[in-house]
Amino acid sequence: MSTINKTDTLENKSNAQSNNIISVTRRNATHIITGYKARLQRVKFRLHILKLALQTYGWKRSTFSMLKQLEQKRRIVHGEFPITKWVQSNDRIAFTLYNPGYPSQQCDDVLLEEMNRIAPSSVIARPIRFAHFAITKKCPLSCEHCFEWDNLNKKEILDYNDLRNIVLKLKQAGISQLHISGGEPMLRVNDIVKLCEEFCNSMEFWILTAGYNFTKENATRLKQAGVTGIIVSLDHYNKSMHNTFRQSKDAFDNAINAIKYARQADMVVAVTLCATKSFLTKENLYRYASFVHSLDVSYIQLLEPKAVGHYAGKDVTINTEQIKILEDVYFEINYSPTYTHYPIVVYLGDYQRNAGCLAAGNRALYIDTNGDVLACTFCHIPSGNALRDELMDVVNRMRKKGCSDYIASVL
Ligand code: SF4
Repeated sequence: MSTINKTDTLENKSNAQSNNIISVTRRNATHIITGYKARLQRVKFRLHILKLALQTYGWKRSTFSMLKQLEQKRRIVHGEFPITKWVQSNDRIAFTLYNPGYPSQQCDDVLLEEMNRIAPSSVIARPIRFAHFAITKKCPLSCEHCFEWDNLNKKEILDYNDLRNIVLKLKQAGISQLHISGGEPMLRVNDIVKLCEEFCNSMEFWILTAGYNFTKENATRLKQAGVTGIIVSLDHYNKSMHNTFRQSKDAFDNAINAIKYARQADMVVAVTLCATKSFLTKENLYRYASFVHSLDVSYIQLLEPKAVGHYAGKDVTINTEQIKILEDVYFEINYSPTYTHYPIVVYLGDYQRNAGCLAAGNRALYIDTNGDVLACTFCHIPSGNALRDELMDVVNRMRKKGCSDYIASVL
């Protein structure tokens, strides 16, 4: 972890004007909780965890030892500091993109499963908590880094019943969060609405979109169906740079409008940035953070480019100095008082280096547009098929294979 360097502070003015885009309403702008309110939420959350633990394990010394290990796990993954920011959505709060909001049954399921891994109890095990599910091969873009490139714009394999059957299996496996991707999943918005209406009481629904077809009307429909939030691919604060990366003259405006419409519908918004070698400077990262902060975004997800899909065979892997830049910015925006009201930064690469791979059937998996079950969006060797095979058999095979880049997490 780096020391906080205030000299990197850039002016917090809206870049929306300089990019000549539609400005975003700030009606719902107070959804990041900081300061004493964040500390208060932290105390409430801890008391809730204590209550869950006492109900499950009883008032014993071993219960408190288990709780200590639970907090150690969080620190290994997210860093030494306590939670300083929360994202509020409706009546739930969350401190990361990959945990369901609190209070909710889904949040309790995750907490109990994490306790269960430390101290096995009579609680029903929920070995998989999270899935990415790519529901369509169709996409109007040709992004430089697309990891689904080899499947893109081929004949669709999964019809609605297949999608439903797969989500049903995921529900039976106990997942608490489903991130729907593609291709461009908004091309199947009607199917998403139907799935969400049926399953959103069991799991949080999120949509990964480049913004295509994310109209105001669709945002309202998705919100009404129960979608928690969207994760918008936005790779630059500069319109033409983003459009070049995505090879579409409309990509930037679509992404910005999706953010605007989702916020107007009171959905949580995350943006995901593929931090390429050419983008990776502190100045660019802070300008990007300042820009999306002005758009009322709640999370910034930093992705390291991988040589798969459209990037296969290319020299895109970032070096240790560039990783250090990402780590510094991740840390500073999350913990420096200078960036108190900025979005929460999520950096899976850092979590994986700290804690090992939490995907590959450890806690998460990826189902692609053929229904094949993969370790994650970047590892493209299937361990089975979600329609044809028993999901837990596939998960067990996947766990044996592990992850190609990181050691399996022992947490
Ligand atoms: S990265 Fe996403 S938006 Fe871009 S081409 Fe691939 S599927 Fe389409």
